[in-house]
Amino acid sequence: MSLFDDPSDVSCPQCGTTDPIEIVYGLPSSEMIEAAAEGAIALGGHVIRDDIPAFLCRNDGCGHKFGRL
Ligand SMILES: [Zn+2]
Repeated sequence: MSLFDDPSDVSCPQCGTTDPIEIVYGLPSSEMIEAAAEGAIALGGHVIRDDIPAFLCRNDGCGHKFGRL
């Protein structure tokens, strides 16, 4: 379940940039690795924590991670 229906409506709480990159967790498939290489998603790795962020700001000068899965 996602807090956000449409990431393009989400803005970074730090800099206000919209349409953040979705962070995908777990063992990446080859499709996911390709998508990450194209900047479509970010790979969060295999982490099991309560406070993992859902989005990565696409502003290079910011890079803030925010939101919850
Ligand atoms: Zn930002």
